Order: sequence, then C-alpha cells, then structure tokens
Amino acid sequence: MVFPIKYVYRFGNVNTDGDRSMKHLLGGKGANLAEMSSIGIPVPSGFTISTEACKSTIDNQMAWPESLFEQVLDGVRHIEAEMGQRLGDDKDPLLISVRSGAAVSMPGMMDTILNLGINDKVVEAIIKKTNNERFAYDSYRRFIDMFGNVVMGVGHDLFEEAIEKLKKEVNVKQDVELTAKDLRELTDRYKAIYRKETGHMFPDDPLEQLRFAVNAVFNSWNSTRAIKYRQISNIHGLIGTAVSVQAMVFGNMGETSGTGVCFTRNPSTGEPKLYGEFLINAQGEDVVAGIRTPSPIAELEKKNPEIYRELLNYTSKLEAHYKNMQDIEFTIEDGKLYILQTRNGKRTGTAAVKIAVDLVNEGVLSQKEAIRDLVDPQHIEQLLHPQFKEEESKQCTLLGKGLPASPGAAVGKVVFDSKKAEESEEPVILVRIETSPEDVGGMSSAEGILTSRGGMTSHAAVVARGWGKPCVAGCGDIVINYKNRSFTNGDVTVKEGDWISLNGNTGQVMLGQKELTEPVFGKEYHTFMSWVEVVEEMKVRGNAETPEDAAAARSYGAVGIGLARTEHMFFKPGRVNFMRKMIIANSKKERVEALGNLLPFQKQDFIEIFQEMEGLPVTIRLLDPPLHEFLPQEKEEIIKVAEELGVSSEMLANKVNQLKEFNPMLGHRGCRLGITYPEITEMQTRAIIEAAIELVKQGKVVLPEIMIPLVGSIEEFRNQREIVDRIAQEILSEAGENLDYMVGTMIEIPRAAILADQIAEEADFFSFGTNDLTQLTYGFSRDDAVKFLPAYIESGMLKHDPFQVLDKEGVGQFVQAGTRLGRMTNPDLKVGICGEHGGDPSSIDFAYETGLDYVSCSPFRVPVAHLASAQATLRKQEDTAQVQEAPKALEA
Ligand code: ADP
Ligand code: MG
Ligand code: MG
Repeated sequence: MVFPIKYVYRFGNVNTDGDRSMKHLLGGKGANLAEMSSIGIPVPSGFTISTEACKSTIDNQMAWPESLFEQVLDGVRHIEAEMGQRLGDDKDPLLISVRSGAAVSMPGMMDTILNLGINDKVVEAIIKKTNNERFAYDSYRRFIDMFGNVVMGVGHDLFEEAIEKLKKEVNVKQDVELTAKDLRELTDRYKAIYRKETGHMFPDDPLEQLRFAVNAVFNSWNSTRAIKYRQISNIHGLIGTAVSVQAMVFGNMGETSGTGVCFTRNPSTGEPKLYGEFLINAQGEDVVAGIRTPSPIAELEKKNPEIYRELLNYTSKLEAHYKNMQDIEFTIEDGKLYILQTRNGKRTGTAAVKIAVDLVNEGVLSQKEAIRDLVDPQHIEQLLHPQFKEEESKQCTLLGKGLPASPGAAVGKVVFDSKKAEESEEPVILVRIETSPEDVGGMSSAEGILTSRGGMTSHAAVVARGWGKPCVAGCGDIVINYKNRSFTNGDVTVKEGDWISLNGNTGQVMLGQKELTEPVFGKEYHTFMSWVEVVEEMKVRGNAETPEDAAAARSYGAVGIGLARTEHMFFKPGRVNFMRKMIIANSKKERVEALGNLLPFQKQDFIEIFQEMEGLPVTIRLLDPPLHEFLPQEKEEIIKVAEELGVSSEMLANKVNQLKEFNPMLGHRGCRLGITYPEITEMQTRAIIEAAIELVKQGKVVLPEIMIPLVGSIEEFRNQREIVDRIAQEILSEAGENLDYMVGTMIEIPRAAILADQIAEEADFFSFGTNDLTQLTYGFSRDDAVKFLPAYIESGMLKHDPFQVLDKEGVGQFVQAGTRLGRMTNPDLKVGICGEHGGDPSSIDFAYETGLDYVSCSPFRVPVAHLASAQATLRKQEDTAQVQEAPKALEA
C-alpha cells in the first residue's frame, strides 16, 4: 500500500527500506539495523517508526498521524511473514521488542520494552511450542515488569521487591535458580502489583500493548532525564526518537542461550582485541542493569568456541564496514547468534587516538579519514588532563581497586547522591552502588565517579567515557552504606565529605587528596598529531607571556605566539611597585623615571620569550588594562603599599580615587594609555627592539609583531605606530642592525572592524580580540554577564556562552567584514584570532571558513586547535569535492 507520508521502514532478511545514512529519520539504532540486514548480518526482522512520527504525535497531544496505525500494522505483517509466526497466535506466537533510538546515542536515557505480545493464552502456546515452561514465564514476568514500569509508571522497585521476597521464600540466591513454578507464581504476583498500582487489568490484546508501548517510547524522548542528558551533552536540533519494533530472539532459553555486549576494540586503551561481557541464560537488560555480574567475553571462547568465532567474524565485518570501532549488542538463542545493535563505540581520548592510528596502519582508513571521523577535539583535550604522580599510588591508603572504566585523575569529596553532587560548590566524587540514568546531572557535576557494582559496560562506565570523566566501576572492595552516608573497606571507613582520589587509568581508589602532574603522551599521539599538522591549512599559535608558557606552546606544536600580554609581566613582585610609581607619577619626568626602572625587566622577559620561539613570530601586545588594576583598593593594602612606595597614604588613596572609573572596560585603557602617556609605548618598544637586537647579534632569527590594543580609528593607530617606528628606527640605526618587525592591531572594537580598510592601509596585521569584540558587540559586560547569561542559556535564548563559543551570526560578521575590508586595501595583511575563542572547535571552524591565517589559544589547547583546524580543512575539501562531482552525477 502507498501512504502519503512514509512513517514505517522495514528491515530483515528479505525486505529492507532503510540504511545507515538515515539516522535522522530512523535513529542510530534503526538506521544501523537496516544497514546490518542489507550486508548479511543476522538481525531479527523488524521495522522502524520514524522520528517524524514521534514529533507529530507529541505535537498533537499523543494522537497518531493519519495512516500511522495502518503502516504499523503493515510492519507487523512484514515481521510475521519473515518469521512465519503471528502476533497473539495460539500456536506459534510472535513476540516483539519495542526499542527507542535517536539520531545521537543517549545511553539508557529512553525506554525499551521486551517480550511484547504475551498474554495468558500466548504463554500457554509458547510452553507447548518450546516445551520450556520456565522460559515462557520468565519472559512473561519480565514483560509485565517492563510494560508496567515504562508504560504505566509503576515503580520497578515494587517488582524487584516481589522477586526478592519470592527468592527468600523458596530459598534461592539467583534469579536463574527460580523454577518454572516459581516464575508462574511471580507472574501472578506481578499482575497483582500492576492491578493495584494502575487500577487496570494487565492488557492482553497484543496490538493494544504495542500501541501503548510505542507511545511510551515516544514520550520517553521528553522525560526529565532525557532532556537533561541532551542539555549536558549539548545535543540540539533533533526532533524525537524513532521506535524500532523487532522480533524477539531469546537469550533466556537455557544454558545454550545468552546475551552480551562487546566493543571491537578496548574502549579504554584502544587495544585491538574484542572486549566485552556476556551472561548465559539472560535477557539484554540483565547485562546493563548489573543484577548479575557478567563474564568477560574471553570466556565465551572457552564455553562455546564456535559461537565465539562466529561473533568475531561479524564484529570484524562490522568494524571494517563502518571503518570505526563498534559497540555491539548480541543475543544467542539456543545456539544461534543474532546481532541486535551496532554503533560507533564511545571511547576515551587515549583509545580514540590509538584506534585511529591502528586502523590507518591496518589499511582500513586513510589518514584524512582518521582525522575527520575517528578523533574529536574533546578526545585530545582529555589526553591533556593531568595524571597522578607515580609515587602517589605507591604511598597511599588504598581503599580498593575497581575497573579502570574511564581514565584520568579525579580528586574530590565523597558524596553519595546526585543531587548533592549537583549542589556542591566543592569538587566531589560521586560514589554509588551503581548509577542509573537519573544520576546524569550529578555525574556531570562530579570530578569523577566510583561505583561498587557493574562492569566496563555499565551505565556509569559508558556515560563517563562518553564525557571523558574519570570513573572507577565495580569496585567490590568497598561496601557502600547509603543510610550511614559512608563506605567501608575492612576497618577503614570513609564518610561523606572525606577526600578521595580516583585513578581511572588503574582503577585505584585512594584516600585523601593526591597530587597531580603533567600528562604523558604515547607514540600514537605523536604520529596522529604529525598527520594533523600536515593536513591543516590554518595555523595554530599559542598565547603565552612567560618563557615557560612559550616553551609549552611550542612543544604542543604552536608555530608562534599570537598574544603575549605585557601587563602580566608587570604584576610580578619586584616590578609591580615600579609600575605603581609610574601610575601615580605627577609629572612626565617621574613617569619616565619609573618606566626606566621597568625597562630592564621587560627587556629580559622578551629576550627569554624570543629565545624560546626562535624562528617563529611573536605577537606582543602593548599595555592594555585600565591602570587601577595595578593599585591596591582596600584601605589596609593602600597603607602598606604607600609605605613601600615612600608616599603618603592620603596621596595614594587620592590617586586610587582619581583612577576609579564608571566603566573601566570602556575607560582609560588600551591604546588610550599609550596615546595619553606616549612614554609607555616608547619604553615597551625599546624593550622589544633591544631584546630582539641582542638575539639578532647572536645570529638568531627573531620575528616580533608589535600589537596596538583597542584601536577604534586609523588616527589612533597612526599615532601609536609613529611612536613605535620612530623608537625602533632610532635603536636599530644606533646599533647598526636590521630587523624585520611588524606593527599591527587588535580588532576588538566594532568601529575598527567596519573601518578595517582604512586601518589596514597602515597596519601589517590584524588579530581579532574576540573577547572584547563580543563584549562590545553584544553590549554584555564580561565582568557582569554572570548575572544574566546563565538564565539566557537555561531558557534557550542563547545556545552557548558567547564568550566561549563565538557568535557567528553577529560577532562573526565583524570578523568577516574586518578580514574582507582589511585585505581589500592590504592584500598581504596577516589575520588571526586570539582570546578564548581561539581554542574552541566551532569557533576555529568559523575562523577557517573566514580565511584567517591562524588562531591563537592557550598552550594547553594548542593540540585541540590543531585537530579542529585540520577537521575544518577536510570538511571544506569534501564540500568542494562534492560540488565538483555534482555535474558527473547528473550526466550519469
Ligand atoms: P538501549 O538503547 O537502552 O540499549 P535497546 O533497544 O538496545 O535499548 O534494548 C536493550 C537490550 O534489550 C538490548 O541490548 C537487547 O539485549 C535487548 N533486546 C532488544 N530488542 C531485542 C530483541 N528483538 N530480541 C532480544 N533482545 C532484545
Ligand atoms: Mg542497546
Ligand atoms: Mg581586548
């Protein structure tokens, strides 16, 4: 039948309508189920209801769009035809699962219902057919639990209590020890719970069950926890969840059945070996829920080598097909293997880089593909996080050792509930027996996560790895007591509020606050970054004002310094008082004298920085901040400083008062300082040029770029440039040396951006100071924005803090206009960006699109910026390639 809007897409052995490119419509799960069916992976038949149907239903107060019900019926007939079974049949009944799945994976955030289609009549048919009464009632009771919980909101704990009670009554420990008779009894008790809690009989019409289940999955898109997860993970622009309805295969049919999850490579380390867990005689949710402790996948090899080989065959096929490490769910039904899900596996930064390099070496991927698809800027960022010092783990009170579920070092105070973690002002470690999707808020606020139960694929482990948060999971050495708000290991008791340290690389849990050290990089990291630096077209510089920072930036691959803030040098002890003398000077003579005292310090700083950056450009910004920042503000401080300076405290207090401004950020700062006190610009130029000459004399290459801040007009720039050039020429001709230096400006005032053509006629380079540019474009004071920005972001009025992620729409226009106009009058103009945005991937992408020559960011973000720049280059190349290919496609 043909429907006006197609909402249902089939997958299975014979008929498949979808493929992996349709994630937006079919969700990741649905799209990949379709893809797997068409490449010959054994996937139980099914169909996927599109995200559009979800959106339409939610928008229309849960009324299904026209023809959806007919299309779903068609889908059910498709499954029935492929399986040779019928829903609700009294001889060979079909059971189905109803599964959620959005375009972006949100582990465990939405709902899934298994074994749908059972009722009292059907269960009898299953018993007859399988001759396995235990299995039949195990499936039935699971269905009532899931349906009751997901569809009707009956607390899962009520069912849990009932099963625990029954286990006590019949004196068994494990669920699997319950007999058929026990499970039949349990099914009756579950039905009674359902009736009591909902006021209804358990629905026995399978189609009605299905309709309810689909609606419940639709609704789970907007559950509080799903909304929160999307907020935390910055997932925007999705319209809803798809719903995949699929024939059940049973891992709970006995000893020859089972279920598991695996990664094609180790998601923590990247080691190229199948990695995962499985449970015999169980259904999917048992593995993740941590009810029974699963066995490592290697044991499957011993238990059933044939199935293991078959699994390995499919997992390798999937990895090669997707050209990426896969996270795979499988079920074995009475000796037959089915794959139920595949997706690109979440992994740590270390694993991401290793897998990328390995897959290239194995010939699966090109270097460019590896850069584009296998490593995120966040992965690189993770690698730059500090680690514990080696000695620390030797000399510590070890509280226990769990699984190294997500690497990194975390230090914090113990809290036992997520709400506390969210509210705490101090760093915390969230300690839970296990985590559930309800905990995501707390997990995101915590420095690290510790669980006493659950494996490497438990909720805590998966979510933590996805976010790059350190996690130690399944630490059985500790016993958590929520009531006493403490946990114990033997005689050691750790109370809420005590400090602990987690080592996510080793799984160690240590008492106290352990010290951290710089990260170390493996050889794959260096290989990967060398590929990145070849690909990137836009260069990356570092922001640095000390020789140490400069060295760090260079070691991370910065090809210059994009911003050296000179004022930071004046804050150092021994200098700040000369600076203060300069500020409080009553005459030019006094000021010049104080500046003269600062000169040797400043010169020495530049010598050291130039040495570190030999052969690379160094952009030095002349004095920028309002002068009051250098003076004491508190009364006692004023008295103390006055004494040090040898002036009266009244005089100093007066001066402090005089310098007070209503809007310091719009006040006497930037080039306005150099214009009113030219001797400041003179001294700074002298320090720069003299430092450079010293190195030139030693035969070294120095490339100083002198940057005038906060310029709004060509007149301002001209005024300052004249001073710089005059002093530089004086010094150079006196020394008889030549030096290539540049003079440019920061573009951070909107006026300068739109008059950039005028300024560029006399400037050698521009550097967009996007912090001030954002402040002045929005009219948001950087220092006061905390009062309202959070509300803007919470309500969705702003997607991001514009001081962190460049506002392309507005502020970006000034960057574009400034670049275009500047290059119009000065084609050689060098243009870059410095400030917070220089290290943010989406802002870097924008900088590349705008055609900037470089971005500059803090040294530790340089590798992140490299990757973002290379990825931007590859995206562009791809777009161009598509445009060029288009005519060919038309011809064909
Ligand atoms: P999630 O998105 O939370 O992983 P899934 O839809 O993947 O939810 O379902 C969870 C588990 O339920 C799966 O890992 C699988 O083990 C089990 N499951 C889902 N559908 C089926 C099915 N058709 N047959 C057997 N088990 C299933
Ligand atoms: Mg799943
Ligand atoms: Mg500025």
